[in-house]
Parts: sequence; structure tokens; C-alpha cells
Amino acid sequence: MKITINFMCVLLVIFISSMLSFSGLVIAKEKQPNIVLFLVDDMGWQDTSLVFADQETAANRHFSTPNMEALANQGVKFTQAYSHAVCSPSRVSLMTGQNPTRHHVSNWTKLPDSDHSGTWGPNAAPKHWRTEGLQPNDVTLAKLLQQSGYYTIHVGKAHFGAYGTPGANPTNLGFDVNVAGHAAGAPASYWGENNFGNEMQGAEGLPQGVPGLAEFHQQKVHLTDVLTQRAKQEITKANQSGKPFFLNMAHYAVHTPIEAHKRLVKHYQDRVYQGTQIDIPEVEENYASLVEGMDDSLGELMKHLNVLGIAENTLVVFTSDNGGLSGHTRSTTPRGTELNSHNWPLNAGKGSAYEGGTRVPYIVAWAKPKLGNQIQKYLPIGINKVSRQQVMIEDLFPTLLAVAQGESNIPQDYQLDGIDSRQFWANTELKVQRPVVFHYPHVWGPHGPGYEPHSAMRLDNWKIIYLYNSSSWLLYDLNSDLNEQFNLAKRQPIKLQKMAIKLKKELESMNVQWPINRITSEEVRFTIPFK
Ligand code: CA
Repeated sequence: MKITINFMCVLLVIFISSMLSFSGLVIAKEKQPNIVLFLVDDMGWQDTSLVFADQETAANRHFSTPNMEALANQGVKFTQAYSHAVCSPSRVSLMTGQNPTRHHVSNWTKLPDSDHSGTWGPNAAPKHWRTEGLQPNDVTLAKLLQQSGYYTIHVGKAHFGAYGTPGANPTNLGFDVNVAGHAAGAPASYWGENNFGNEMQGAEGLPQGVPGLAEFHQQKVHLTDVLTQRAKQEITKANQSGKPFFLNMAHYAVHTPIEAHKRLVKHYQDRVYQGTQIDIPEVEENYASLVEGMDDSLGELMKHLNVLGIAENTLVVFTSDNGGLSGHTRSTTPRGTELNSHNWPLNAGKGSAYEGGTRVPYIVAWAKPKLGNQIQKYLPIGINKVSRQQVMIEDLFPTLLAVAQGESNIPQDYQLDGIDSRQFWANTELKVQRPVVFHYPHVWGPHGPGYEPHSAMRLDNWKIIYLYNSSSWLLYDLNSDLNEQFNLAKRQPIKLQKMAIKLKKELESMNVQWPINRITSEEVRFTIPFK
């Protein structure tokens, strides 16, 4: 009898503890939404029919992105969101939560031991920037999400680590699945007919041939559509796994080569820009079709989440990894202007110190908002709201980890530069003052406004820029001069000095690497003006 009672007690303990752990799991899962990060490559602030400026622009009338509009209608549109000037620095910031000033992958990566920075001008890149890119010993968002119970999927362009290094493969950086991601920053071709840039059908040969999609070689398909199809398959699989999932939907579009999305380009061919007599140049027809194809993909994924019945429990974040390309290759804009005006009312584009280089579209929403949904109650997001808070790509690291209930997985001594931006999702009126710091100690390529080694900082409505080649300070009031045309450095010396001191302090606190003089090999630092 005594044995039976003891046995019953043991059974009861097992039963209660299993109930507890079961309910524990249920609570955790109920609070862990799926996360879709829709990361477009090189998409500019104005490459959309969704209005991000104070009023509709000619670019908004030219592009067609109905699915972005729908997403913004059901969530929060951030009009002052930033990435960094080029691909790898932004992508590594997303994965590490650190500013490029700190993580030192300060330029785009290619080969592990060589610097691909431009060679003109008096200043070269810092000697020891991390040419190898992100590597498995780094703390990454994907790894910490894995540790928090997530199934992690990478689809599309990776560009985290250099060729021949472990970091080139997203599965070495915390992703359970990698579809088509490797060291390259662009596809050699978007077309299945061209095997996505691989020399032969079935091959994965050329440096920029997209890997892992041999089944689509020699088919008349566009890379954006193929990645969408593969992402849908992976979402279905992830949903069957019973775990919440994180999908890094990182399109190769709309980066060069600006090849037509053939299914959509007819929407722009043989036409003039709306309300003008300007023929749309071929490269701009093709570009708009790449943009529309990307937007189509967003719509397809949203549909798929709804079909699977998981849209209510899926968070969607939409953004781009740098400003829109405007320094080369592009042609006449809907305003009849030429290079460095594609992001108007912002100045210049990808690679530049000006706003066009770094300001990007950004939307946060539930894939299907629903009153009374448990996760949405716990993590409220405004509906059809606009936030003017300044947010940065490195904010996504702490933000998405908090969403995933995974903050405790961040190592204790880890130096984080991003801030948790969930607070701005429900309270869209909230504005928190924070410095937005950019440090690009490289020559990117083309000559033009702001395309040279620079440091910059936004604080409230002010923007300060230091250009290392010309040793010049620029100061703009973005409230009255969003296009950064009127340099107030001489008229506002006190403001300039204050901002320069703050910029220096921020850079030094992140263990800055300075550009070096090509002749003397000495570090080139700025001095505080009027001191
Ligand atoms: Ca990019």
C-alpha cells in the first residue's frame, strides 16, 4: 500500500510538472509571434507609391507599390528611418545591433583580405576594417532568435561575410535554412533564362551567380518571383515545425543589374512620366518593374500567411539596407532631373553622406491586425499611423529579440548601440531624442555630393556632416532644408561646435577607426571647429 501511495505521489508530481512545463511552453509561444523581416536591397525612400515625405511626390506617382500601401494602412509608417550608406555595414548592424563605427565591417565585403574601397582622393580606408565581414564567432540576431526557440530562415541576398569564409553562408550565422544567400552583394542576372548569372545550367560558378536555385535555371522566371515561391515553401515548413519562425526575406531586388521584371515592365514601357512629356528611359522602366516585383512579393507573402491562418500572429517589418542608387547607372527622373536626385526631396543616394544615402522606407505591422488577438494585445501596433521618431537598422536587433522574448539571451557584457523601438509602435506620438550616427571612412566609387569618407550625425532636426577629403563641416536644419542645400556651418558656429563635440564623443565611445592618409598612412581625424 505504502509503495502504491509513493508511486501515486511520483505520478502526481510528474503530472503536475509536465502540466506546468506544458502551460509554460504555451504561454511562451502565445507571446512569441512569427517575424517576417522584409529587407529590400538599395530601395530608396521615394521608390514607392507610399508617401514618406510631407506630401506626395512625382516619384510616388511613378512607382506602383500597392502592397506597401496596404501594409502601412494596417500598421505604422516611420518617415525618419535610417540604414547605413552601403550594404554590408547595414546588414551587419541588423545582425549585431551595433553601429558600423563599432563593428568595423564599415564597407561592403568581397574577398576576406582585400579592401574594395574606391581609390581616388587623399584618404584611404582604415587599415584594419573587417574585410572578412560577419563571422560565426560574432553574436548574431539569428543565433539569439534560435536560442529563444525560433526557426530561422534566410531567403535571398546575404552579403554578411566575404567569399571563402564561413560567414558567407547564413547557416553558419544562426540560420536554420539558407535559400540563395552567399557572399555576393548582387546577382549577375535576375533571369532564370540566364541561370541567375551562373555560366551553365545547374552550375554555381561565377562569383555573382545566385546559388541554390538550379531547379529554375533555363526557365522564364524572375529571381524575385522565385525567391517568393521558395519563401512560401519555407514558411509552410516552419509552420509545421510548431516553432515560431523568423524569416529574413532579403530580396536581391532592387540592386543592380537593373534588369526588367518581364511580367511587369509593360506597365512602364512606351509611356511618359505621369503629368509630364518626359519619356520614361529604359533603365527607369526596368527599375520601376523591379520595385513593383518586390512589392508583388510582399503581397504574395501576406496572402500566404492568411491562407495558413497565421497572419494574426505574424509581425512584419519592412525596410531597405541603404538609400536608393542615384550616383551612377540611373537616368532621368519623373521631375526631369538627372543623377543624385532620384531620392528627392532628399539629396544624393546610396554611398553618400546626405539623407538620400541613408534614409529608407520603414513599416511595422501585423500581417492581419485583429482586436482581441492575444499576441497583439501583448504587443500593440498602431493602425494606419505615422511615427516621426528616428529609428535605425541596428534597433532591429534589440527590438526583435524583445518581441521574441529573447532579451535574456543577449550576453551580459555585450555592447549594443540599437534601442528597443517597440515603444514607438503603439505610441506613435512618442519622440525620444537620440543621436543617429553614421561613419563611412571609405570612398565608395562615383564622384558626387557626399560620396567620400565621412562621419555624420542627426540629432533632432539637425544634421552635421564632416567630409574628410575636403576637411569641411556641413550643418543642416532638416526641418527647413530637407534637401540639405543651405550649409549653416558658418552662420551657426555654436551649434556646429556643439554637434561636432557630440559626434566625436559618440564615435570615440564606439572605438572608431579613422580613415588614413594615402601618402603618410597616418590616421585622419577631425578637429573641433572654432576651438
Ligand atoms: Ca544595399
